[in-house]
Amino acid sequence: MRQRPKLVLVGQFSALPWVFEGAERAGVDLILAPRGDDDPERARKAPGVVELLPLDVDGDPDAAVAALVERFARQPFDGIMAGNEKVVPFVARAARVLGLTGLTEEAAAVVRDKRSMRRLLAAAGLAVPGFVAVGHPDDWADAAGLRFPVVVKPADGYSSLGVIRVDSAGELEQAVRTTWALCDTHLGYDDGAADGTGVLVEEYLDGPEISAESLVHRGRVRVCAVSYKGELNGPYFEETTLRAPARLPADVLAAVEREVVGAHHAFGVTEGTTHTELRLVSGTRPVLLEMGARIGGGGFMHHLVHVSSGIDLAAEAVRIHLGREPECWSTEPVGTGHAAAYLVPVGGGGRIARVHGLDEVREEPCVDHVVRTVGPGALLRPYPDWSGYPAIVLSHHASDAAAVEFRDHLARTLRVEYDGRS
Ligand code: ADP
Ligand code: CA
Ligand code: CA
Ligand code: CA
Ligand code: CA
Ligand code: CA
Repeated sequence: MRQRPKLVLVGQFSALPWVFEGAERAGVDLILAPRGDDDPERARKAPGVVELLPLDVDGDPDAAVAALVERFARQPFDGIMAGNEKVVPFVARAARVLGLTGLTEEAAAVVRDKRSMRRLLAAAGLAVPGFVAVGHPDDWADAAGLRFPVVVKPADGYSSLGVIRVDSAGELEQAVRTTWALCDTHLGYDDGAADGTGVLVEEYLDGPEISAESLVHRGRVRVCAVSYKGELNGPYFEETTLRAPARLPADVLAAVEREVVGAHHAFGVTEGTTHTELRLVSGTRPVLLEMGARIGGGGFMHHLVHVSSGIDLAAEAVRIHLGREPECWSTEPVGTGHAAAYLVPVGGGGRIARVHGLDEVREEPCVDHVVRTVGPGALLRPYPDWSGYPAIVLSHHASDAAAVEFRDHLARTLRVEYDGRS
């Protein structure tokens, strides 16, 4: 009997089950390189996991590559896949060294740097807002000529950390310094302009936000689902809700697909699954915000895709990283309804005591998953700082209107309680 294929999964947080379950459905065994802050017991027991392979990707990437080469020499595995945004460049490097399917290191670097993404989109004739890269906090005035409002953000950030809307030139310096300070704390910027560090200032794109989940295999892109995130006006950008399929006119959806497919080509993203965020300026004209070359939301975007389109996003991503063709290339799945994700807002922040209402929500028939990514006692800081979601609720519905109604119900019902002293 042929052995089950093995995939090294790097940095997939084991509190989020979707990629693990997808690998099981694909009949693939996982060698998990756990995140440093993961719970080792939970990681070992995650679905599909047959082995843990600790790798110090952050601290010593050369040693981590050497450990993979050594593991491969002992017994080869069939693929490697990134489980979070930060490890995408490392996984591309490891795939090259081991001769496995993956992104080029150039493409991996591009999708980790919002400045490179902007430059390549512009060069490809795709939609971009006016933008200026600021290499040092003292150079904030370089961006003063943009059309306000603008958005200030780290070039290599995540989860809206340090992303600030600025309405007038008079507020620009303060915002750039605030963002830079958050980068110092969370992204390791040292007040100079070390390589890769920097802040991007770009014109504010006024319109609702959407996200597109795609599969890409040998350069061929399929946009599997478009989700609606709604109006996020700032000054800080905490995501709270997504619904799929987005109810948009066919011509707008076609324009979204053109921008998303074009962005994959412009960035050189040829293998895997991607999470692309866009704004619909004036409700109709799609403009990319950014692309992540990994599954969205740590895997929960799988749920929205699976329910709305029938495509088993997580399993297909695993197949692609084993060098196989996705099954939806040859058989057309069908969606079963509408899906929603609700990210419980951090609110004021502090040391989390409990989330009221979660137990009741778990019992609702439309609820498929309730995930706690941070336990009691964890310190959550309010935006534009960032430290985690108190909880995520995933559901399915017969219509978009029912999904909206349920979101409003969750917003009324769920409440985060913080310790009095924090
Ligand atoms: P991150 O990597 O932190 O997620 P993004 O570029 O996606 O960075 O920005 C986070 C959020 O900030 C976006 O989802 C969007 O709501 C808002 N945002 C960022 N840039 C712009 C822009 N140019 N116009 C309008 N909103 C923006
Ligand atoms: Ca197991
Ligand atoms: Ca990002
Ligand atoms: Ca984003
Ligand atoms: Ca996001
Ligand atoms: Ca419907």
